[in-house]
Amino acid sequence: MTALGQHIARLISETGPISVAHFMALALGHPKHGYYMTRDPLGAQGDFTTSPEISQMFGELIGLWIAETWIAQDRPSPFILAELGPGRGTLMADALRALRAVPGLLDALRLHFVETSPVLAAAQKQNVPNATWHDRFDTLPEGPLFLIANEFFDALPIRQFVRMERGWCERFVMLDDDSTADVPHFVPAITPVPLASDDLLSPSVRNAPVGSLAEVSPASGAFAEDIAARIARHGGAALIIDYGHAKSAVGDTLQALRAHKFVDAFETPGEADLTAHVDFEALALAAKAGGALAHGPVEQGAFLHTLGIKERAEALKAKATPEQARDIDVAERRLTARDEMGSLFKVMALTRPGAPGLAGFEG
Ligand code: SAH
Repeated sequence: MTALGQHIARLISETGPISVAHFMALALGHPKHGYYMTRDPLGAQGDFTTSPEISQMFGELIGLWIAETWIAQDRPSPFILAELGPGRGTLMADALRALRAVPGLLDALRLHFVETSPVLAAAQKQNVPNATWHDRFDTLPEGPLFLIANEFFDALPIRQFVRMERGWCERFVMLDDDSTADVPHFVPAITPVPLASDDLLSPSVRNAPVGSLAEVSPASGAFAEDIAARIARHGGAALIIDYGHAKSAVGDTLQALRAHKFVDAFETPGEADLTAHVDFEALALAAKAGGALAHGPVEQGAFLHTLGIKERAEALKAKATPEQARDIDVAERRLTARDEMGSLFKVMALTRPGAPGLAGFEG
């Protein structure tokens, strides 16, 4: 068992079962042994690959979206460009290259990264040297905020609830009977005591039938509400891209990836990436509570097509070798095809109510 596994086993034997959210928070974010604290998980050598790591086109098109949105809002200056969980900094490096062509934009821009992983922050510094780093969102300076979050919300902890005859009961993580101190074995179990009130659950799942599993991400709601409140105060826009569902729905979406393969979510805490589908309806409700308007979600494939991924691919291919041109076609397909990332991945934007139209969200 991993060092983190032993730590969690001790915690459970001393204090009792912990929520799935608590387990996930420790597995990913424990300050010493958490998954993100100890490694760069991205790419072929790692556990999973994200859109900016597939092609430079992704970050470039998001750069153009930022430029259009900034211009449509009358070029606020200065403004904050922030990214949540920037990974290796690839998306922002590609976006900044595209933004160089926009008169006045780079002078107005103040770049801020929110990142908890020291390993990834070091990679970001290599690729984007002149940002300011934060390990929490609330230390960002006040001002017009343009914010990007790609595959950030799927890494935030979720609570899980199962509908029993007696009501909605939370799923907790405990040690099974044949666990030992050296080899703990974690299993999910349902608490006997139901929730006193189902206010916590999304209104559209509260009446789901017995046996259904519902998920709630309090951390995601808090981020969405805080982002929305800043945009409501100062203007700007947020672009949230992730895999998940447009409408709240029941179902167990907690998953663990290790070396690009699915593994048991509770088996090797700290060694596998844990994520859950993002509930965009819940994000939109939280954003509304913060005073912002949610646009979309639209599917990633449709969004990238509207922003001009075809034209960008053609322009790159005009200067490429035949082999590079083939890679560009493969990347475009991975990002946009319905059976790849085009449909499961969705894009939502937040603005002030009444803000001008947004590229990719009209019609
Ligand atoms: N956006 C990048 C990386 C996605 S992986 C890309 O698309 O390639 C998730 C990122 O979020 C990592 O950088 C991880 O370290 C960061 N992260 C996870 N939980 C976080 C939290 N609570 N606060 C800040 N960053 C977090």
